Amino acid sequence: RVQVQRADRMVHDLRMASATPLPLLRQVADALVEEMCAGLEREGGSEQLKMLPSYVENLPSGNEKGLFYAVDLGGTNFRVLRVSLGGKKGEVLSQEYKEVAIPRELMTGTGKDLFDFIADTLAKFVDTEDTSLEPNPDKTREAGFAFSFPVRQTSVKSGIVIHWTKGFKIDDAVGKDIVKQFQDAIGRSGHNVEISALVNDTVGTLAGGRYNFQEETMIGCILGTGTNACYVERADAVKKWKDPLPKSGEMVINLEWGNFRSPWLPRTFADEEVDNESVNPGDQWFEKMVSGMYLGEIVRHMLLKLAEEAALFGDTVPGKLRERHSLGTPCVSEMHADTSAELQVVAAVLHQNLGIQSTSLEQRRIVRDLCDMVGQRGGRLAAAGVYGLLKKIGRAGPHKNGFAMSRKKKKTVVAMDGGLYEHHLPYRKYMEEALHELVGRNGAYEVFLRLQNDGSGIGAALLAASHSRHT
Ligand code: ADP
Ligand code: MG
Repeated sequence: RVQVQRADRMVHDLRMASATPLPLLRQVADALVEEMCAGLEREGGSEQLKMLPSYVENLPSGNEKGLFYAVDLGGTNFRVLRVSLGGKKGEVLSQEYKEVAIPRELMTGTGKDLFDFIADTLAKFVDTEDTSLEPNPDKTREAGFAFSFPVRQTSVKSGIVIHWTKGFKIDDAVGKDIVKQFQDAIGRSGHNVEISALVNDTVGTLAGGRYNFQEETMIGCILGTGTNACYVERADAVKKWKDPLPKSGEMVINLEWGNFRSPWLPRTFADEEVDNESVNPGDQWFEKMVSGMYLGEIVRHMLLKLAEEAALFGDTVPGKLRERHSLGTPCVSEMHADTSAELQVVAAVLHQNLGIQSTSLEQRRIVRDLCDMVGQRGGRLAAAGVYGLLKKIGRAGPHKNGFAMSRKKKKTVVAMDGGLYEHHLPYRKYMEEALHELVGRNGAYEVFLRLQNDGSGIGAALLAASHSRHT
């Protein structure tokens, strides 16, 4: 029999341990800002945040024109994309894409195998190009490469992989120019496509946001398999930048905030388990509490403990609960969003995914509570991160000269992308609520989170366009 009281107490304790009240979120944001400053000061200035200069000094103006490709290597899926840009304010004449799952064995194999696969997919996609679309006069096609792993850029179209995250581990590709490896593979495929911009997916998302919403867009944020953010910084604030300052006076900085950590992060035993079982224990704490690759796993560990210590599912512990990744984040979001009186969606997911049959409403309620707790914490921590960035660029506080209530508020847009943000609606709602609580009603700025659908891919194509040799 379920030990209801014991289960309830355990859930209560977990809720306390994962609580994210506003003062805590403010501490998290302040700790993030402190690390950001340290990371801008000098190379390796922050052990957590790489604060990588993207070499993007100019974001798209909206007047980019022509046919461009993009390749988006994220975590779970990989997309190739073709856009025809109109040349007038944010006009996209046509856009097509193809998405393929990355075969698991390629995620931990050799660089050559991974890039040959990607180059072949790109080559096949190029072959489907409509003859009415005109590539550049000399028939080279240009592509932006959105690559969502930490890279130390050496120019806008070259960079060295620092290490892998999100379950990828391709040791022979580390420390080498990622564009060269890809460009060589494209050469082997016999096609003529030139990579003219290498961009982190957050930078692509920011670029896509700029294209649509102009200067108001200052931040790009991804909540997908992993999480990360970038923002527009004053170039002279990037103390570690040794080259001449860009003419625009600005530089897009990629935080790699997945690796943020702070004693303020409300961790539980489940986070420790998830970390220990990962391919990168000790790293990416923030990511492991916030992003799609991990939320399902956190809930699974909580359920397992409740099953073991409070007989949540009866006398035997369901075997599936011990299986890694048996409960995906999409399942957790479905259960979280279940508002039916009998919690039928929860029942169905427990049955289909974990093989747990004929649950009571009481049991299902506990499961739903855990999904809510983990989703709420994730969404609110993501909001604290964005709030930290707003503070860093001076767009979080009151008007400079007081008495501002009557003045018109300035807008800041955060371009958002990623499957978690797009599909996990309760998570998104928690994030928005927390961000608005943090910013407050009396600030000088209003902040808007805007889904920039497929932002990283389109943004990479846009940056290929604005860095094209042909214009
Ligand atoms: P990537 O981050 O690999 O570029 P996506 O942005 O497409 O990929 O995000 C995919 C991730 O989004 C999945 O790994 C999953 O964790 C999460 N996700 C997808 N669908 C849902 C959903 N319905 N609910 C919650 N999370 C989802
Ligand atoms: Mg992605």
